[in-house]
Formats: sequence, C-alpha cells, structure tokens
Amino acid sequence: MKQTFEALVLEQQDGTPIATIKTLDRDALPEGDVLVKVAYSSLNYKDGLAILGRNKVVRSYPMVPGIDFAGTVLESASPKYKPGDEVVLTGWGVGERHWGGMAQLARVKSEWLVPAPKGLSLLQLMGIGTAGFTAMLCLMALEERGLTPGEGREVLVTGASGGVGGLAVAMGSAMGHTIVAATGREETHDYLKSLGAKSIIDRAELTTPGGPLGTARWSGAVDTVGGDVLAGVLRTMAYGTTVAVCGNAGGPELHTTILPFILRAVSLVGIDSLPVPVERRREVWGRIVQAISHDILDKVVHVAALVEMPTLAHEILHGQIRGRVVVDVNA
Ligand code: NDP
Repeated sequence: MKQTFEALVLEQQDGTPIATIKTLDRDALPEGDVLVKVAYSSLNYKDGLAILGRNKVVRSYPMVPGIDFAGTVLESASPKYKPGDEVVLTGWGVGERHWGGMAQLARVKSEWLVPAPKGLSLLQLMGIGTAGFTAMLCLMALEERGLTPGEGREVLVTGASGGVGGLAVAMGSAMGHTIVAATGREETHDYLKSLGAKSIIDRAELTTPGGPLGTARWSGAVDTVGGDVLAGVLRTMAYGTTVAVCGNAGGPELHTTILPFILRAVSLVGIDSLPVPVERRREVWGRIVQAISHDILDKVVHVAALVEMPTLAHEILHGQIRGRVVVDVNA
C-alpha cells in the first residue's frame, strides 16, 4: 500500500502559520485505532481561523486543519469498524489538537467516528459536515424546549447565507417550521427562498438601536452570528421562547439587558458540536437524513481543492462564502 499521502500542513513561521501542501509519510500520522482514506473535508469558519492563525484555534504545530471529514476505513484495530466501512467525523478537536481532514489520510480514535448514514454520499455528508450537524443540534434544542411547527410561529435564523445558517433554513423548513432568514447580503435572497425561507429580513433590522425590548415576534431562533445581532434577536423574542446560539461570526461580546429573560421568559441555550456523545450523534444524523434533500445540497455545496484553502479561508472570515465549501482532498 502507498506509504505517502498529501496534506495541507500548517507550520508556524515567526508566530504566523504558513499553509503548504506536503507529501507526508504515513508514519507521521498521530495515534489512533482507525486509519481512514479521506474523500472529503469541509471548510468551516473555525478552519478559516486555524489556517490564518486567529483566535488560537490550533493548539500545536505542525497541524493538518479540517474539523470534519468523510471517508473509508483502510485499517482498523477496533472491532467497531472494518476496512471498507464508510465513516464521518465531526468535532472532538480534530483539526485543532489532532490532525484533521484536509489530508488524504487521517488516523483517529474509533469513538470519534460515526458510521456514514445510509442514503447520503461521502460528498453529501461533507456538504452537511459540522455546519449541518450544528444546525440540526440547534433545531433539536428548540423543539426539545417546546417549539412546534405552526402557522404564525416564525423561527428566525441569523447568518443565513453562511454554512450553518443555510442548512438551518433548509432543514428547519423541511421539518415544517416557518423560517425567516436574516442576512446582510441582498444578493442571497433568492437563494434563501430556494432553501425554504418563508421570508427574509435585513440583518441591519436586528442591530438598529432601540429600547431593551422590541416587538415580540420570534417563536424560536437559531443564531450563528452573536454580538449585536444576538442582542437584537433577544429583544424581539416572543414570550417563553428559546434562542439556540452556536456562533460568533459577528463578535463574541454581548451587550443586552436582563429584560428579555425576566419579562419575556426567554431562554438562551448554547450549542457546542464538539463533545456530543456518540448516541446523540447518531440521533442527530438520523434527523439530518430525514430533513435534507439532494436538491438542497446541490444548491448549498461548492467543491474546492486543498490548494484553494488559504484564499477561501480569507473569504469565510469576511462573510463572503455562500453556503458550504466541501474540500476534495484528492483533487
Ligand atoms: P459562515 O462564514 O459560513 O457564515 C457566517 C455568516 O454570518 C455569514 O455568511 C454572514 O451571513 C454572517 N456574518 C459574517 N460576518 C459577520 C459580521 N461581521 N457581522 C454579522 N454577521 C456576519 O460560517 P459558519 O456558518 O460555518 O459558522 C457560523 C458561526 O458558527 C461561526 O462563528 C462558527 O465558528 C460557529 N460554529 C459553531 C459551532 C459549534 O459547535 N458551536 C459549529 C460550527 C460553526 P449573512 O451575510 O447572511 O448575514
């Protein structure tokens, strides 16, 4: 079997990571009981931070970025997997603490893997990736706290033109919810409607200064932006509803008041896709399979090569990517 493979490698030079495609020996891979032939990884916001050396995402160098991947088991010392099995991985610090998916091979712990759900190709699985997994965690969190689909019960999704946001729009509407998409990009309105958004609002509507409480509108919200956008979401939630917050593309600070919480009984639930137990992962993937269609993935996904990652990393951090970037590691 081939002993070498190609990977995007981050190495630090004068405190800045430099990304280059390198040919590595298999022996260089970190420890783990399963060796996976990676087919696809994906570019997430966090990978943009890692590739450009922001926010100390990467804990040690050299590092292979890519916080998720889908591929086929080549070798396994675990009874759970055998060569030929298709698997998907999201989270667990892969691409941050442990070499990630932007490589033709990955060696990981078997407990981090999930068998590829039936009915989706490896490309489609990475079209969903960490972003779709997180979007579904958010939607499930809302439903588990009382949200039910219904006429007049609007669910707001912020950062809608991005990866998590777009998949929350698509899957939320397929689950029967009335989705309102908030975006800062007018040119994405038709795209968001085609994903299932009932209507679109300008992101600026949420950040317009006003009193501590605005008109109560949303029966639930998925927030991928944080910062002033999240503050605007909180002040316009209906009584007794929940915001599932998973991202901070608009900044980590939150300037709000206590009033949405004590006068409108609003709940804020934080979503972290990294350490989700394996049984919950299988449940989440099961819900994703039910809620996603091949047509939607065709609209959301753009395939790119490893060599494009440094440029695309800049674009994702500047809110310029629409939907999801799947990385073909063999292109
Ligand atoms: P994307 O870059 O694909 O999407 C982010 C979207 O947010 C953009 O498309 C844009 O949408 C909006 N946006 C970007 N910059 C700003 C800004 N400065 N101010 C306001 N809005 C902005 O990223 P992802 O969808 O991959 O990730 C979104 C967030 O979720 C990130 O913070 C990421 O780290 C986080 N995340 C968290 C996970 C978890 O486990 N908690 C897992 C995955 C992601 P628009 O123009 O439509 O408003």
